[in-house]
Amino acid sequence: MKIIEERILHDCAILNNEILKVDNFLNHQVDVATLREFALEAKEFFKDVHIDKILTLETSGIAVAYAMAEAFGDIPFVFAKKNKSKIVIGGQYQTQIRSFTKNTISDVTVSTSFLHEGENILICDDFLAAGNAALGLLDICRQAHANAVGFATVIEKVFQGGREKLKKEGLRVFAGASIAAFKDNKPVFTSFIS
Ligand code: 5GP
Repeated sequence: MKIIEERILHDCAILNNEILKVDNFLNHQVDVATLREFALEAKEFFKDVHIDKILTLETSGIAVAYAMAEAFGDIPFVFAKKNKSKIVIGGQYQTQIRSFTKNTISDVTVSTSFLHEGENILICDDFLAAGNAALGLLDICRQAHANAVGFATVIEKVFQGGREKLKKEGLRVFAGASIAAFKDNKPVFTSFIS
């Protein structure tokens, strides 16, 4: 069994058959060793492609992106910001992302200084649900004329449709654990090879 599946079975709570609470190792307290192992699995999955940078969304994506950036050889990671800063110098790529858990829409920005034309970008996040966060980050890559080569998530809930949308956009998707459904208040895991 994969390490993330084990952690979910051991540590998670399921809310309304829809939301997984994994504050023990991912969203509040962070287990560095688990994220390091996830990142090494992601590196193996994307071993045939050169990655210049990791792109994620604040806040929960940041720890994941750090582990990924280290696993891919200490490359930089960039996190898109949700809140407008008063300190803006230079241009920004901007998009809107609907939050799955809060049902709010945020303006999300990345400075034009940190994503460049032709760079190979791997997008990552803690969760893939309906795919809105990943599609927003893909939009930002496209604004920068950078190549989004794939998406890596610690946990995906396949039944919420995100994977299908990202595949339609041509992204390869890696997940540390893929949940096909919740049954009797337990996750049912599945797996994908691409
Ligand atoms: P999506 O944009 O793919 O619909 O949802 C992914 C985003 O929503 C992630 O950034 C994640 O923070 C949050 N999210 C979605 N589903 C869950 C969940 O089951 N548990 C937690 N903790 N966050 C989730």
